[in-house]
Amino acid sequence: MKRSYPCIEANLNKIKHNTSTILEICQRLGIDVVGVTKVFCAQKPIVNSMIEGGLKVIGDSRLSNLKRVNEAKCEKLLLRIPMESDASSVVKYADISLNSEVETVKKLSKAAKRANKIHKIILMIDLGDLREGVLEYDVLDAAKEINKLPNIELVGVGTNLTCYGGVLPDEENLSKLITIKEKIERVLEIKLPIISGGNSSSLYMVMDNTMPKGINQLRLGESIVLGRETAYGKEVPNAHKDCFVLKGEIIEIKNKPSVPTGKIGLDAFGEVPKFEDRGVIKRAIIALGRQDIKVDGITPLDNGIRVLGASSDHLILDVTESKYDYRVGDVVDFYMDYGCLLQAMTSPYVSKYYVG
Ligand SMILES: *Cc1c(COP(=O)(O)O)cnc(C)c1O
Repeated sequence: MKRSYPCIEANLNKIKHNTSTILEICQRLGIDVVGVTKVFCAQKPIVNSMIEGGLKVIGDSRLSNLKRVNEAKCEKLLLRIPMESDASSVVKYADISLNSEVETVKKLSKAAKRANKIHKIILMIDLGDLREGVLEYDVLDAAKEINKLPNIELVGVGTNLTCYGGVLPDEENLSKLITIKEKIERVLEIKLPIISGGNSSSLYMVMDNTMPKGINQLRLGESIVLGRETAYGKEVPNAHKDCFVLKGEIIEIKNKPSVPTGKIGLDAFGEVPKFEDRGVIKRAIIALGRQDIKVDGITPLDNGIRVLGASSDHLILDVTESKYDYRVGDVVDFYMDYGCLLQAMTSPYVSKYYVG
């Protein structure tokens, strides 16, 4: 099949394998996994591989993504605290949502009533990272109010760490989440089946067996697609690191000096560029730029290549040290970090292909 470049190649078998591998190590500790799909915009083939890998719930931060996989045979969880103005779509496209504002949950209650549905709520608790969540001393009041609302079922508590403040999940803060859950159950005389203990930065506690007993759900995106936990960047044993490969085509290749000629002003992004003089080098230009990728998030598979920089549409490489004699028209492969994958999957200029 003729391909158009730049493109991403996603290996569905590898994603399925990572899903089942991570699901297995979590389930051994009684933890269920919500497969987080936002980094790849909930593209259907990938969502389906996750479901084939054993996931029963997928989570996304955007309703438009959940809408895309409305037909998928799994429960859908909305990760980002809903906008009030979206209440009826939230109830339509998500079975569960994470919430921290009672006023918004009231709107969801009304919308759920209109739609004749029960909408499930996980109450988010801020354990110090200062992104979403009610503070500890407001938890009981919030839970009480939510618990009274018609067509709303409070099913659990959750937290999100390492996202804004960089606060790492540990036995102390996650144990606090369990204590809070028990207190709500005692005071309101209800059962909360879910304690959602965070994202891929909580996975290390599964890997080194320090997860407090009681945490029974993790919401995992990056660890499934890139094969590593995100608190310390450790690889998940037996998981693939290369589910996604970015490919770009060479449009110019020439021997040129490594330092520009002339007075140096600002570059296209308002910065003063710096150059290291390595004499004349073999430079390749790829038709790929900042409109498609995060330049500092790419790693060439060919370790003889150095990334020199990029403007909106051009990526410049030093291929002098490569064993391969690159020509115009050749395709160069890269791995991506999370931020780059997010941007490339989101860019309409990057084609997506699925293999495996
Ligand atoms: C994105 C997100 C996740 C998943 O994060 P990863 O680091 O990709 O595992 C989990 N929970 C919430 C609320 C999120 O927004």
